[in-house]
Amino acid sequence: MAGTKQKFKAIIIGGGPVGMYLAHALQATGIDYVLCEKRDAIPPATAFGLFLWPHGLRLLHQVGLIDRTEAISSLLTKITHAGPAGDVVREYSDFKFLQLAHGYPVRMFDRGSLGQMLYDTLRQPEAHIRTGKQLVDIERRAGGGTAHFADGTREEGSIIIGADGVWSTVRDLMRRDAPEGLFDAIPYAADYGAVFGRSPLPPRQPGSSSSPLESKQQFEFHRNGALLQLFTSKTEVHYISYLKLDQPRRERKGFDETIDASDAAVAPWLDTRIAAGLMFRDLWQTRSAAGSANLDEGSVRMWHWGRMVLVGDAAHKVLPNQGMGANGGFESAASLVNQLSALLRHEPEPNTTELRQAFTACQAERQGVMGAYQRMARDGLDGWTRQGGPPLDALRASDVLVSPMVARSVKLDAVPFPDERAGFSGWGYKVPAEAARAAGGGPKL
Ligand SMILES: Cc1cc2nc3c(=O)[nH]c(=O)nc-3n(C[C@H](O)[C@H](O)[C@H](O)COP(=O)(O)OP(=O)(O)OC[C@H]3O[C@@H](n4cnc5c(N)ncnc54)[C@H](O)[C@@H]3O)c2cc1C
Repeated sequence: MAGTKQKFKAIIIGGGPVGMYLAHALQATGIDYVLCEKRDAIPPATAFGLFLWPHGLRLLHQVGLIDRTEAISSLLTKITHAGPAGDVVREYSDFKFLQLAHGYPVRMFDRGSLGQMLYDTLRQPEAHIRTGKQLVDIERRAGGGTAHFADGTREEGSIIIGADGVWSTVRDLMRRDAPEGLFDAIPYAADYGAVFGRSPLPPRQPGSSSSPLESKQQFEFHRNGALLQLFTSKTEVHYISYLKLDQPRRERKGFDETIDASDAAVAPWLDTRIAAGLMFRDLWQTRSAAGSANLDEGSVRMWHWGRMVLVGDAAHKVLPNQGMGANGGFESAASLVNQLSALLRHEPEPNTTELRQAFTACQAERQGVMGAYQRMARDGLDGWTRQGGPPLDALRASDVLVSPMVARSVKLDAVPFPDERAGFSGWGYKVPAEAARAAGGGPKL
């Protein structure tokens, strides 16, 4: 952006993983921003972890964060599938395949450490990140918008990016301004719910040199209509118990408002043998945190209106079993930044029509891919919870299909990446946004 006027400023609403990655992507591209988060701090106190696929790690590498990322996360190396009593059915080392294919592994994070790292590594975070700022209104003005917060303060910017999660306020305000029917009040629906938690990795037992539960593992315990997933880091076990709901729910509920995260919620699993001498009950009783949620799914019909645009869970919501929610959100954020940087290079103060074309191009690039991930995650969860047991080989084939999509994932066009890692698949990223613009851009609405 050297040599261009620096009037353009993005307001990001939401400091979850996607909003914080977006802040880094804008910073790396030279676009000014401010990020406003309603919580009092950026690192969230959540009850579940997050794993990132090779393409999510590549995006963090590109903005200079690979060493910090590796320092706060654990590798995943092996998946074990087991029946309801804990009897092992199959073991796979597909995570190793992913690393060989793409040059980056799959890594597991606790969200607090990830959020803190993303905050600490921004340049002058105190100048760009505001906490305790709950968006309540957006006012249009010539050449931009004003975001109003519950504490009576406001921010002015050229665009407002809603990275404010599944029940996005930015999306509600877009709906208010748009013709009736363009935005659904509740765009997502849930067929599954989940209870999740985290516990310390069990201590080693007398006479043994290690914990009964190996670190760096993913475990899948299957029973009719339900699935228990466990992920182990060096110090912790994170788990999610999935349950098919009696009937689909289309309701505006946040975490912990839907399912009781008590013993009853995980009752079917309490006597499942997780490892030698270790039942799920032992983990659950030592949990340091737990929570529950409806697992909403869907994609918003239109990701932008006027100078407002959505990224992450605010635009597309996938089931968590495949771990593509934050990964996909990072990619959508990178896609948006690519469109903006290509536009700003030609027009430092773009008008609403030019912005609309950039937002449309981002949605066009990302919506189909996120739809495919959504379908795969759903097929996976339906299969893993199937009556009579999961069709493991078929489900593994669908996992292997993810790799070609990973290879074609988005990275930042305008940020040099000399030390990018690659595996035998190579990165097949297609035409940069700059070239797409030169060829005519998106549809002109
Ligand atoms: C149990 C579970 C496990 C998961 N595991 C994985 C995984 O392994 N890998 C993966 O990639 N994904 C996973 N996901 C999905 C992932 O959590 C989401 O896709 C991801 O958190 C989306 O990030 P986001 O920043 O878009 O939204 P969020 O994480 O929801 O963040 C939104 C932020 O906006 C703030 N906010 C909301 N409203 C306002 C407002 N009005 N004003 C200001 N701020 C506001 C919120 O406080 C929040 O900080 C999992 C999800 C669940 C439920």
